[in-house]
Amino acid sequence: LRTPRAPRRSAATAAVPVAEPLAALEGRNISAWFGDHQVLDRVSLTMPAGVVTSLIGPSGCGKSTFLRILNRMHELVPSASLAGEVLLDGEDIYDPSRKLVEARKHIGMVFQKPNPFPAQSIYDNVIAGLKLTGTRASRDEKDELVESCLIKAGLWKEVKDRLRAPGAGLSGGQQQRLCIARSLAVKPRVLLMDEPCSALDPTSTRVIEETMLELAHEVTIVIVTHNMQQAQRVSQQCAFFLAAQGTPGAIVEHGDTEAMFHDPVDPRTFDYVNGRF
Ligand code: ADP
Ligand code: MG
Repeated sequence: LRTPRAPRRSAATAAVPVAEPLAALEGRNISAWFGDHQVLDRVSLTMPAGVVTSLIGPSGCGKSTFLRILNRMHELVPSASLAGEVLLDGEDIYDPSRKLVEARKHIGMVFQKPNPFPAQSIYDNVIAGLKLTGTRASRDEKDELVESCLIKAGLWKEVKDRLRAPGAGLSGGQQQRLCIARSLAVKPRVLLMDEPCSALDPTSTRVIEETMLELAHEVTIVIVTHNMQQAQRVSQQCAFFLAAQGTPGAIVEHGDTEAMFHDPVDPRTFDYVNGRF
């Protein structure tokens, strides 16, 4: 077991980071727009440390937008604007004195479509984040990091003999696990996963779910999923988003996953989790 140490502060000279404690993430009164089009209306959700939270709801209700706001990716869209706050262990990630890379390195992201750097080797894919965050590491440290991240992502055994092969040569499920390994290399405290299994076959999906359950011990996970069984298998907390008839997306109901699926409070939640729309 690794002993958590105080986070190192200077990105430019930081060595490979040690694991930091699990962090809580909180969105407070998040509203979001693309131009004049409001897509989220005062969404508040606490994602406690060590809890896997799933975001469910029909397409277009703002789940991905909410996730991207949690990672400061929303602001990269020129027409996008937002109101509200995002707190990582109580600290505002939108604090203007915080550099984007500094705010974001604690919050990893995995997308629906696996997006490894195709021409780069498996090895270089895993350590790509070190360069982005200005983290220096010796060859041995890199080797160790690549191995540990690939183990955590459940990919090590399959690729350990071909670490120098390009990422593009892997299957879809392997590529997604490579992306998980890449996101873990900067030791995020929160991992956001936007439909990480939607493009994958059932076997790869199961492997990734097992990986998530393991990872949940060291990183707070938020997952968007359309797979209701998956939400029940991997998450302890669930939030149901809905954008009713042209209104912006909002959370209808959130809480304990089991309760949401078996004893929902709102009839719309009942209809959704039972596949009625
Ligand atoms: P979900 O992930 O729940 O399917 P999204 O967050 O992707 O929903 O989308 C929410 C709304 O925001 C939709 O109406 C969508 O068309 C709109 N939207 C998403 N991304 C953009 C964008 N880059 N520019 C303009 N509108 C967008
Ligand atoms: Mg989406």
